[in-house]
Amino acid sequence: MNRRLAMFALAFAAFTAPALSSSLAAQSVPTPESVLGFAVGDDFRLASYEDALAYFQALDAASDRLELRQIGATSEGRPWYIALISSPENLRNVDRYREISLRLAHPEGLSDAEARALAQDGKTIVAIEGGLHATETAHAQHTIQLAYDLVTEKDGATTSAILDNVITLLWTSINPDGQTMVADWYESNLGTPFELSPLPGLYQAYIGHDNNRDGYGLNMIETRVVQRLVRSWEPQVMYSHHQTSPFPATIWLPPYADPVHGGMHPLITRMMSFMGMAAANALEARGQLGATHMGVGYDAWYPGYNDFVSTFHNVVIMFSETGLHGSATPRFYRVQDFPPQDRDLRPGSLHVSRWPGGWWRLKTSVDYMLTTSMSTLDVAAKYRENLLFNRYQAGRDVIQTYAEGPPYAYLVPQEQRDPVAAVELLRRLAFHSTDVQQLTAPVTLEGRDYPAGTWIIPMDRANASLAQALLAPQDYPELRASPEAPVDKPYDVAGWTLPYQMDVRVIAVGSPLGDDVRAAMEPVSGDVVPWDAPGDAAPFDMVPGAGFDTNATAAGIVPPAGRLTGGGRALEISAVQNNGFRALNRAWDLGAQVRLVGGVPGTDGGPGTAARYLITGLDGSAANQMVADYALQARRSDVGGVELPRPRIGLYRPWTASIDEGWTRWLFEQFGFAFQSLYNADVRAGDLRDRYDVIVLPEMRGRQIVQGRAVGTVPARYSGGIGEVGVRALDQFVRAGGTLVALNGSSDFAIEQLHLPVENVVGEL
Ligand SMILES: [Zn+2]
Repeated sequence: MNRRLAMFALAFAAFTAPALSSSLAAQSVPTPESVLGFAVGDDFRLASYEDALAYFQALDAASDRLELRQIGATSEGRPWYIALISSPENLRNVDRYREISLRLAHPEGLSDAEARALAQDGKTIVAIEGGLHATETAHAQHTIQLAYDLVTEKDGATTSAILDNVITLLWTSINPDGQTMVADWYESNLGTPFELSPLPGLYQAYIGHDNNRDGYGLNMIETRVVQRLVRSWEPQVMYSHHQTSPFPATIWLPPYADPVHGGMHPLITRMMSFMGMAAANALEARGQLGATHMGVGYDAWYPGYNDFVSTFHNVVIMFSETGLHGSATPRFYRVQDFPPQDRDLRPGSLHVSRWPGGWWRLKTSVDYMLTTSMSTLDVAAKYRENLLFNRYQAGRDVIQTYAEGPPYAYLVPQEQRDPVAAVELLRRLAFHSTDVQQLTAPVTLEGRDYPAGTWIIPMDRANASLAQALLAPQDYPELRASPEAPVDKPYDVAGWTLPYQMDVRVIAVGSPLGDDVRAAMEPVSGDVVPWDAPGDAAPFDMVPGAGFDTNATAAGIVPPAGRLTGGGRALEISAVQNNGFRALNRAWDLGAQVRLVGGVPGTDGGPGTAARYLITGLDGSAANQMVADYALQARRSDVGGVELPRPRIGLYRPWTASIDEGWTRWLFEQFGFAFQSLYNADVRAGDLRDRYDVIVLPEMRGRQIVQGRAVGTVPARYSGGIGEVGVRALDQFVRAGGTLVALNGSSDFAIEQLHLPVENVVGEL
């Protein structure tokens, strides 16, 4: 080759290299269609979680820009993965970038200059998820296409800048069980009159739609898997997709509606609004009309949402509600079907462009989501250093706030009415990376003595806003459209103060911690259990399996050892201990007997005495084992009270997917109750008293219990409720001495259908 030709070849290679590598990458990477057998967003086609996983595994094998990692398993035991997507070089150094992210999230002892240097070196970590509300189907489909578009640099320089500057943590779905349930249900009804019929059960093993209200409760396996992953990366940005836009807007994006919780750092709130506006702008640029913001609902108040709880860790939460419906069956909308005030398609300052009606397909929703996800990644790439430094700055400011003003700390004594309740509370905080410490020596604080072993949460920490939001009382603002207008109803939970809800004594410290207190403090730490460890790591707490013990701090928070004192034939347990229920059920399992000594109400505001359970017929070692497992504070006493036979429990389980039924079922299972699910046919079969002592109706509307879903709207076996026959069967059950427990709204059923001489005095509120 002569010199000139060599120069030309070199120049040509340099010029074409990026384009060549990009197109080569695209050639060798399988398209979603080649694996799924259909294109993402095709009418009438939904990828199940297994389909999606097969595609991600194919991508993992074909590309060095995507790495699939197992992060846990679901409630139904599905292996669960997350994809890391970035440039090959970033993926090689991913541990270093994760360390930078964690350091900036927990900047105790870091200087501004050090933080700036880390922000310059780091990459933006963005977690995007394919949703958890499984009947909103588009998000878990869009993640498949998003992975392909990123790996193949679909948008050229924009995408390659994203790969260079951002490490994307992509969950195909954060409810894999639900994704497959809904895909299977849809497919089984496709082409029948029931194509659009609702799933006849919950799309998560226990709590269905409430799977997005477990952010700090952490009761479900899925919530703990997600939070464990999030807290081990501390992404600067998380994007959570949903699919219920306020009709006829086609997508809702931040800024959030009022009220905004005071615990959120202004930089974080501003960046959420910025990201929402950037996404809306990207939609307009592509002619995807109809985005809106703020309005009523979708506020920024409640930390219980699985994503939003992370704003109290100073994470920017991007959130959207896309699409007019969540089905794979296309639907046509006419302007005359819009609400009257929306029919003139007049632009507003927030609802800028108006969608004029027409077909809305799964593909339409998927495409909107691809635009907003890509926009979020684009902002994350362009504002990489700002986002990393903002995370530091927000944390630094929170530390300073609590270093200079109250509460300086929270104290949680070991001595409680129910000592395990305090442990349940603290383990959840610790799982959320709250710094929980313990006193190694007695101290006196604000005139009160606290013994060694007292837990203490120092508040001069970057994520103290979460502890503050959960431990301090809420003061929900009085919002009105105008001074004369009625008070706005809160969109969701308005108050949740955990010490009140869980009956745990927690003391806010109003003066700075002295050197003596600091010297007595020691971080709590225990032995970490792997997420897939067999057995129940902590039988005394509410969650099964590895539970909270995958976290070192949480694993170190244990209740005072169970104690059995005194003498006598019966084992006596105060009813104020939640684990008393476990004890009763285990005693019955072992063939022992239980008696009840009723409590005595206090007089003149006094405390009174709690009811007590007396267990007899349990041998010594079984009793000791039970006291140890459940950390019971128990004593031996003489036999008294009345016999308490084990109740045979029926829990009503409608085909209308009752969230409260699922929560109640979960509680029954965790506390060892013997119960059966009662379906409509079981109730209608009658003779209930022969089979049950107690029937529990979960919270639901009375009409739903009687009528269920209308005939013709769902496959025949799921239509109807208990009907008149079922009402009579329940009436006979009660008349024959059975106990009917009606939770919340189902009380109206009991009042109306069983003609009780009582009135629902809060019915009109
Ligand atoms: Zn949703």
